[in-house]
Amino acid sequence: MNESLSALRVNSERFRTNFETLAAIGATPDGSVHRPALSDAHLDARRWFVERAKRIGLDARVDGAGNHSAVLRCERAGRPTLLLGAHLDSVPYRGRFDGALGVLAALEVLHVVKEHGISLNTHLEAIDFTDEEGNLVSALGSLALSGQLEPEHLRNPRGGRDRFRKALRHAGLSESSLFSAGRDPATVAGYLELHIEQGMRLVEADLQIGIVTSIVGIRSFRVRFIGRADHAGTMPMGNRLDAAQGASAFTLAARELVMKDFPGCVVNVGNMEFEPGAFNVVPQVVAVALQFRADDDDKLHEMEAALLKQASAEAQRFGLDLETEPLDNVGTARMNQNVREAFANASEMLGLKHTSLPSGAGHDAQSLAQICPTGMISVPSVGGFSHSSKEYTEWQDCVNGANVLLHATLMLAQ
Ligand SMILES: [Zn+2]
Repeated sequence: MNESLSALRVNSERFRTNFETLAAIGATPDGSVHRPALSDAHLDARRWFVERAKRIGLDARVDGAGNHSAVLRCERAGRPTLLLGAHLDSVPYRGRFDGALGVLAALEVLHVVKEHGISLNTHLEAIDFTDEEGNLVSALGSLALSGQLEPEHLRNPRGGRDRFRKALRHAGLSESSLFSAGRDPATVAGYLELHIEQGMRLVEADLQIGIVTSIVGIRSFRVRFIGRADHAGTMPMGNRLDAAQGASAFTLAARELVMKDFPGCVVNVGNMEFEPGAFNVVPQVVAVALQFRADDDDKLHEMEAALLKQASAEAQRFGLDLETEPLDNVGTARMNQNVREAFANASEMLGLKHTSLPSGAGHDAQSLAQICPTGMISVPSVGGFSHSSKEYTEWQDCVNGANVLLHATLMLAQ
């Protein structure tokens, strides 16, 4: 890289102004944001993003899956596009950095390249993917763009089919339009994503940049323990078929099982729904929201078998029936070696301390890794908090991440 290019930096103040302006859309009194995918606040954020892009002279693009992009075209004909991005949706009432930082850093990179008139060999596209957080369907936009969206992904959206169709209509989308967003892999040069770490490793090791090696695979199931509703006062304890007992025993056993047999992997019971759900009725059905993650597909497969076997054993122990319904299934994704090297070289050039680490959180990069060279970097999360109102990253760390993204982009796009 020539000297004038290596001196380039993102504009920290401009980047911060964009960040604060965006964080005000869907802001909550405790300093969080509430922008579930395709909600009014989320659509407002997306409108603001494309307006901002147009104002700085970039092209705006919205595809059939609602992915919103700012595009900087290169002059050479027939070149592929290097995608940079993340997501503007949020989990309910939570952090300002998760996703938003990556989209705004991508926009800032395009802005810097444009204002310096740098000629590149690929188009650059800053992209905001639809529903990374899974308000409706996890990673909907990136699955659609990478051509991996299947009708079965749409069969069990969170909150049901009616809510899903209504949300799509509200955003000017439809189930058939989603499938039109697929791109020919030959037109995609790669995908780079900056994200907050959402963990403790960078802060604890006093490092500034994490270069992601692989992203965990994630599977989700709805596990229903089915017993019998009875009067909670008159049915003797020993005669009950109490669905809560099976669900609770399974929750405790699942933790033990994963800690003992699958070190480094995680399991979560994130919700239990009780039917009929009253103080004075023995629960007939408890539906457990089960999710587990591993950094290796074989391990994920073994965990699934072990956890479902455990659920079946607990159901039997309490005389219950069991139904299991598979929901999301996202495979592990390895990050591209060239892209990782570009991130490492950019970090070195900028004098930033970096390390390699796996990502325990799912990201759109998982979808993109299936069709193009893909890489991710993370920046420190104070206290490791994320999906929490305590989520925070020092501004200098955000700027560091954006500068690494900028220089890796220059290296890969020339
Ligand atoms: Zn995210």
